[in-house]
Amino acid sequence: MDVSHLIDSLNDAQREAVCAPPGHYLVLAGAGSGKTRVLTHRIGWLTQVERVPPWAILAVTFTNKAAGEMRARLDHLIPGGTQGLTVGTFHGIAHRLLRRHWREAGLPESFQILDSDDQQRLVKRVVAGLGLDEARFPPRQAAWQINSWKDEGKRAENIEHGQHPVTRTLVQIYQAYEDACRRAGLVDFAELLLRAHELWLKQPAILEHYQHRWRYLLIDEFQDTNALQYAWIRVLAGQTGQVFVVGDDDQAIYGWRGAKVENVQQFLRDFPGARTIKLEQNYRSTSNILKAANSVIERNGGRLGKQLWTAGEEGERIAVYAAYNEQDEARFVIERIREYIAEHGDAKDCAILYRSNAQSRNFEEQLIQHDIPYRVYGGQRFFERAEIKDALSYLRLTANRHDDAAFERAVNTPPRGIGDRTLDVLRRRARTESTSMWEAALNELSSGSELAGRAKNAVKSFLVMIDEMHRTFAPPANGDEQVSALPLAEQIDHAIVQTGLRDFYEKDSRGNAESRVENLDELVNVASRFELTPDDIEAGLSELPAFLSHAALEAGEGQGESWDNCVQLMTLHSAKGLEFPLVFLVGLEEGLFPSQRSVEDEGRLEEERRLAYVGITRARERLIITHAESRRMHGTEMLARPSRFLGEVPPSLIDEVRPRVQVSRPLYAGRFAEPPPSLKEDQPVKLGQRVTHPSFGEGVVVSAEGSGAHTRLQVNFEGAGSKWLVAAYANLTVL
Ligand code: ATP
Ligand code: MG
Repeated sequence: MDVSHLIDSLNDAQREAVCAPPGHYLVLAGAGSGKTRVLTHRIGWLTQVERVPPWAILAVTFTNKAAGEMRARLDHLIPGGTQGLTVGTFHGIAHRLLRRHWREAGLPESFQILDSDDQQRLVKRVVAGLGLDEARFPPRQAAWQINSWKDEGKRAENIEHGQHPVTRTLVQIYQAYEDACRRAGLVDFAELLLRAHELWLKQPAILEHYQHRWRYLLIDEFQDTNALQYAWIRVLAGQTGQVFVVGDDDQAIYGWRGAKVENVQQFLRDFPGARTIKLEQNYRSTSNILKAANSVIERNGGRLGKQLWTAGEEGERIAVYAAYNEQDEARFVIERIREYIAEHGDAKDCAILYRSNAQSRNFEEQLIQHDIPYRVYGGQRFFERAEIKDALSYLRLTANRHDDAAFERAVNTPPRGIGDRTLDVLRRRARTESTSMWEAALNELSSGSELAGRAKNAVKSFLVMIDEMHRTFAPPANGDEQVSALPLAEQIDHAIVQTGLRDFYEKDSRGNAESRVENLDELVNVASRFELTPDDIEAGLSELPAFLSHAALEAGEGQGESWDNCVQLMTLHSAKGLEFPLVFLVGLEEGLFPSQRSVEDEGRLEEERRLAYVGITRARERLIITHAESRRMHGTEMLARPSRFLGEVPPSLIDEVRPRVQVSRPLYAGRFAEPPPSLKEDQPVKLGQRVTHPSFGEGVVVSAEGSGAHTRLQVNFEGAGSKWLVAAYANLTVL
C-alpha cells in the first residue's frame, strides 16, 4: 500500500513519532510544530500500515470544534475517513458511554445533561432549601467548589472537612445537590466524567470490554487534562493499551479549572517505557510572530524548555494600535478587516481574539454595521438562550417528568398563575419526601392541604398539559396498529405553540421580542436538520434524547457547522489549537489581560502569559495587537495602561500604527511624564487654557496626559462638566 502521503509531508522528528513502534509516547513541542498533525498522521499510520482496525482507536481532544477539525483532517488522510474511529471530547465520549451503560452507571435511561447555567440555578435552590444564607454561600462559588471536587474524583462522603465549618457546609450543599440531581435524573458536565470513571471502577467487566476494544489511545492538548481525565485514561489503558499524548506545557491554560500540567511529567512515570519526542520546527507562523511569542513566554519560570524555530519568512512586523477607547478599537479592527477582505476576499481567515466574552459586543456592532458576516464562538450560544432553553424544557419534561431543572423552568414560562408561594410548597414537599417536583405536585394534588383551590387548578392544568403533550409526541401503541412518534421538528413546533411560549414572546415587548421568536423558529429548523449519528445509534439513543444531549453539550461552544466564510470571534481559551492567517489580539491592557485577579498572584500571572503565547501563536501571516487607552468596564469609564505582555515583545518587532495625527515620540517612552502636550503640532496647549468644543461649548483645560497623538486633555466645560478628550480627535479650538 502506498502510504507516502502519510509520511512525505513530515520532518524527521515528526516522522519518528508517526511511524514509531508500539509503545507509549509523549510528543512535547511548542505551538504550531505539528503536534496535531502528527497525531492524525499517527492514526493514519496505525490503520493503514499497522492494520489496526478503526474501532480500536480512541482519539480525544479538547473542544467540539477541535474534534470537528480533527475529523476533517482524518477524512483527507484515510481512505475510509473517520468511519469506525472514536474521535471526540472527554465529555462527549463519557456521555456516550453513560448512554450505552446507563443501568450499570446507576442512571435513569432518560437522564438529562445539566448545563452550567442550570447547575447554578439548582445549587441556588439547594442552598435556599438548606436554609443557608446565599450571601455567605453564593451559588456560583458553591457550584464551582462542587465541580472542583468532582474533577478530583471526590464524592461528598469522601471529603475530609476536618470540622472546618465552611467546608462542612459546602459538603452538605454538595450532598444535597447530588440528591437533587439523582431524584431529577440530571447529570452535570463534571458528573459525566466522574460517572464514566466510576463505571470503570465499579464494573470490571465493562472496563475490560473497553480496554480490549480501545487499544490505542491518542490525546491532543494533553497539558490541559485534569486529575480525573488523567485517571480515566490511565485506568482505560490498563496493562495493554498504548497511549500517545501530545502537548505543550507552555500552552497550559486551564489551571484555573483544575487542569494539571504536572500530568505531563506524571505520564512518564506512570507509563513504563514511555518515550518523549520533541518537535522544534514551527510551520505555522512567520519568524517575526514566532520571535514575539518566544520572547513573551521566556519570562515564565519552571518551563520544560523547548526550542522553536522556523524556516519561514520573516514576515511583517507586529502592528500595535493604541485606541482611544473600545469603540475606536473596534472601528480600527473592522476597518483593517474590510481592507483585508477587499484585497484577499476571505473573511474566515480573520480572527478576533479577546480575553473575555463581554468584549465581543463592540466588534459585533461594527461588523453588523458594515455587513460583514461573522461568528462568535463561546459566549452566549444559541442553545443557551433563555427562549431556547424554555422550549427545550418542555421536551425534557416529556422525556423525563422528574427533571426538576426543566420543571422549574417550564412551570411558569409563560406565566400561568403558579406563583413563588405555590412553588415553595412544592419544593418543600419534594425535599421532605425526597421526590421530584413533579411527584410533589402530584402528591400535593391528591393529598395536600397547603394550596388554595386556584393554585391547585393551575398546577393540575400544567401537569395535564405535559402528559397530553407526551401522548401527542409518542402515541401509545394501540392493538396491532403501528403508531410512530411525531417527527422531532413537529414536536418542538408543537411545544412552542401549544404551551403559549410563542405567543408569550411575541407579545413580550421588552426589546428584542422579534429575535426571540426568530430564535424559536430557528430551533424548529435546527431540529428538522438533525440526524442521529452512528454513535447515537450505537448508544441506543432515539431522536429526542439525542437532540437534547446535543443541545446541552454544544452549548457554550459554537453552533456546529463552522465553515461558512465568516470572521471568527472567540476568546483566547477557545482559540487553542486553531490557526488563522490574520489575527487581531485585542484589549491588551493591564487589568483586562492580564486580568485584574491574576496580577497579584505569580502562578496566575504565568497562566495569563501562556494565554498570551497561545494568542500570538494562532497567527500565521499577520498579527495585529490593539489596546484602548480608556475602556468602559462594569459600567464605568476606566483609564487603562497597555498590557505588560505588550512590553515583553521586543520593540524591534513592533510597528506602531499611528492614528491620523503625526506623533514625534515613541509610544512607551515615559508617556505619563511628558511636557505639556499640543493639540496640533503648531498649537501648544497649556493648563488653564480656554478652549471651545463644537458640542460641549467653552471650557478650561485642567489636566493633560500623554504626548502627540496620544495626548489626552481634561477639560472642565461650563455646561457639560468635566471630560477627558483625546486631543487629536477632540476638535478643540484654542481661544
Ligand atoms: P498547537 O500547539 O497550536 O496545537 P500544533 O503543534 O498542533 O499546534 P499543527 O496545528 O499540527 O501544530 O500544525 C501547525 C501548522 O503547520 C498546520 O497548518 C500544519 O498543517 C503545518 N505543518 C505541520 N507540520 C508540517 C510539515 N512537516 N510540513 C508542512 N506543514 C506542516
Ligand atoms: Mg494542535
